[in-house]
This record gives sequence, structure tokens and C-alpha cells, in this order.
Amino acid sequence: MNRILAIFFPPKCPYCDKPIRYDMTECLVCRAKFPKVPRIEPIPTGEICVAPFTYSTEVRKAIIEYKFRGKKFNSESLAGALANTIRNVYYKDMSFEIITCVPMSAERKKKRGFNQSELIARYASKLLDKPFENLLYRDTGAAIQHEMTYEQRITTKDDTYHVLDNADIKGKKLLLIDDVMTTGTTLSKCSALLKESGAERVFCASVAIAKGYSFSNTMMYYNKRQLDERKGV
Ligand SMILES: [Zn+2]
Repeated sequence: MNRILAIFFPPKCPYCDKPIRYDMTECLVCRAKFPKVPRIEPIPTGEICVAPFTYSTEVRKAIIEYKFRGKKFNSESLAGALANTIRNVYYKDMSFEIITCVPMSAERKKKRGFNQSELIARYASKLLDKPFENLLYRDTGAAIQHEMTYEQRITTKDDTYHVLDNADIKGKKLLLIDDVMTTGTTLSKCSALLKESGAERVFCASVAIAKGYSFSNTMMYYNKRQLDERKGV
């Protein structure tokens, strides 16, 4: 942020709203409260997802204001915490070659003005010094996930993700970023697609994981859906 402007309109901490120095992304009190241990959860397709935060309290507030009220400044702190988790705690060998994100349909991106996962992934790519590329796209008109129940999210037939034609991922290791992991189905669908298209490995990460995320619940619905599909339901 412009220094002069910052004197009159200092940026605010995404978590507690206190004014902060222009070159900081969150206040020292909130930074000190960041969890020391990341969340690590398995997802249905066999990958794991790592996240610096659980989706609750101040982190939930910061993400909601970022996604739904356009406070893009919050993405810098969220991406910073994510990059730290990836670099220092997990995926420490940094062996992935490309950073990508869960896509948003063109229609929704136009409405919101930005893809929240893309902004976080792009900022994390700068901090981690690895290239960012959009590799996936999502069809317009796809169901809006956050308006669906846990079961609906997993069981709704939704073949709406695709790999971009020009994506060069054969034999490559990728880091796939989402903003919040709720059921693990989106990350599972996207990582399965990337692997079907030749990616060697897909590491998954998100800023936060839902408080109630349960691998066994997800698997129960996921298996039910696979069975229904086999039966042609
Ligand atoms: Zn704060």
C-alpha cells in the first residue's frame, strides 16, 4: 500500500480489525496466535490436504470478509500463513514444479470479480518462488457449493471440472490450492483429473479446513455415490 495513503488509511488486521503498519499483513498479537501445528487431513482420492488454520472464529471472519466483501488485503495474510505451512512444516522438500488452484466458473468469477483461491495461490507462488499456472476450468452454471449440505456436496452429480487444453503437466508434480476445504470432494475431483491428465503427483493445501471435516463421513457419501454411479442412478 502507498505509504502516504497508509498514514490516513492504515490497513487493518484481517482477524481483529486493529490498525496495523503499512508493511504488515496482520498484527503481532494475532500472528502469535497462529496455530503452531497445521491441520493434515486425508481426502478420498488418497492425497492429504494441509492447512495452517481450522475454519472458525477470527480466521473464518477474515475469509468471509475476503470472499464476500471483497477485502482482498486479507488474502496476503492468509497466503502468507499457507506458504509458511508449505515451506516450513509440510511439503518441506518443495518438490512441486507448478502451483495451481481450484477454478471458479467464468460466470461466478465475473460476478465476484476474482477467484479467491487463485489470488491466494498467486500470492503464495511469489512467496514460495514457484510458478503459478491456471490448469483447470469449471463449467458455468455449476451448483454453488456453500449453499449445499454436506451430503449434497458429495452426492450431487457434478462433472464440471476440466483440465485446460494447453496445460502441460505430464510427469509433473503440482501443488493444488483451495481456500477452504469443507468435504474434500472438490480437491479430490481436481487432483484426480490432474492425475488422469498425466500429473505425477498432486499435493493439496488450503488456507483452512472445516472444523467438522470428517474423513469417514466423506468416504461414506463418496462410496455411496460411486456405487450409485455404477448402478446408473
Ligand atoms: Zn490482529
